[in-house]
Amino acid sequence: MRKTIIAGNWKMNMDLEGGRALADGIKMGTLGMDLAAELRVILCPPAVLLHDLCNRLSECSIKVGGQTLHNKPSGAFTGEISGPMLRSVGCHYVIVGHSERRTMFAESDIEVCLKANAALDARLSPIICVGETITEREEGRVKEVLSRQVRKALEGIFDFGITDCVIAYEPVWAIGTGNTATPEQAQEAHRLIRDLLASIYNAEIAERVSIIYGGSVTPQNARDLFAQPDIDGALVGGASLRADSFLAIINATRP
Ligand code: PEP
Repeated sequence: MRKTIIAGNWKMNMDLEGGRALADGIKMGTLGMDLAAELRVILCPPAVLLHDLCNRLSECSIKVGGQTLHNKPSGAFTGEISGPMLRSVGCHYVIVGHSERRTMFAESDIEVCLKANAALDARLSPIICVGETITEREEGRVKEVLSRQVRKALEGIFDFGITDCVIAYEPVWAIGTGNTATPEQAQEAHRLIRDLLASIYNAEIAERVSIIYGGSVTPQNARDLFAQPDIDGALVGGASLRADSFLAIINATRP
């Protein structure tokens, strides 16, 4: 009923040559895989590679997404990229509210909300990242933090918009650390998020929204995570920078 999504967040890695080689390797690997129709593979390279990779991947089912966007469609915002610009080069997705943007670039919950709405306005599906820090987890505040982040991010997004959104549960303590959440910890958080969606919208809509996990996903731990009923795929950082490991994670979605 809902899509399984494997998205690679390349962050600030890969020049033109390296990005082309990686995208080609992933494309070739997926062609031989006989992937399920409901599986969506997404690459989120640095902005300068988006146009080139959209063209390169246009003949296959892999989609391309930006790593962030500005909340306005155009204007005097030096260095920024807007939703309509991403869409015009062929993007279908954009990551919003990644913890690195929240912490290093001071993106607030309100900013995340504005960006998620701007993405939908530009006919892009936002991949909205939420997740607690280790201190918040140790203080028993996971529910409080996720509730705040999800509710704020979705303000102004109505029934017809939410099913175009993807929620990524990314515990901050698991990103780039090798400390993956256990399948049980991740499932608990995903269930909490789905229950929140049911309370904001309704149960039927909540069942249709893909909730993906991010935080040190590898070929070794992917299958156990994907076996959880509310984990609909992964947002992958480090392991998306090599075709073999990213393909192995894609492969782990298969029965
Ligand atoms: C990420 O940055 O979204 C991420 C999940 O990174 P990693 O897989 O490297 O933990």
